Amino acid sequence: MKKDEIIQTTLHAMRQDRSLLPCEDTGDDDWDDHQDLVIATLTERLPDLDFRTCADFGELGVECCHTCHTLYPYYEMYIEDLPDGSKAWICCFIRSALRGEKTLEELEELIELEAALGGGKRNGTADEPGTQ
Ligand SMILES: [Zn+2]
Ligand SMILES: [Zn+2]
Repeated sequence: MKKDEIIQTTLHAMRQDRSLLPCEDTGDDDWDDHQDLVIATLTERLPDLDFRTCADFGELGVECCHTCHTLYPYYEMYIEDLPDGSKAWICCFIRSALRGEKTLEELEELIELEAALGGGKRNGTADEPGTQ
């Protein structure tokens, strides 16, 4: 995925879940400001390369970290150097699995914990990114 696509995807995911944004009770003007910050931050952080993303690591069988993807993705998501020399733009769960830092069981516990804390919103509510 190219840098521009990552920026667009990030904005889309955040827009889907605006209840999580720090500017929750403010208006659209603030969302515009926030959007500018996201674009500026990502433009600075990301090299102009083709990235692999979480979706490319489906074979790991790990669910994504909702917090990384929607709360502060422009800060929280990781740029990871892959063994084959390419780069990946991934959340903490996928990164831990890739690095072998956590077992699948440990990751599943984390995912459940996140859902219990309300981060996951997996129980029947709409707007889960990527399910349309
Ligand atoms: Zn992810
Ligand atoms: Zn995370």
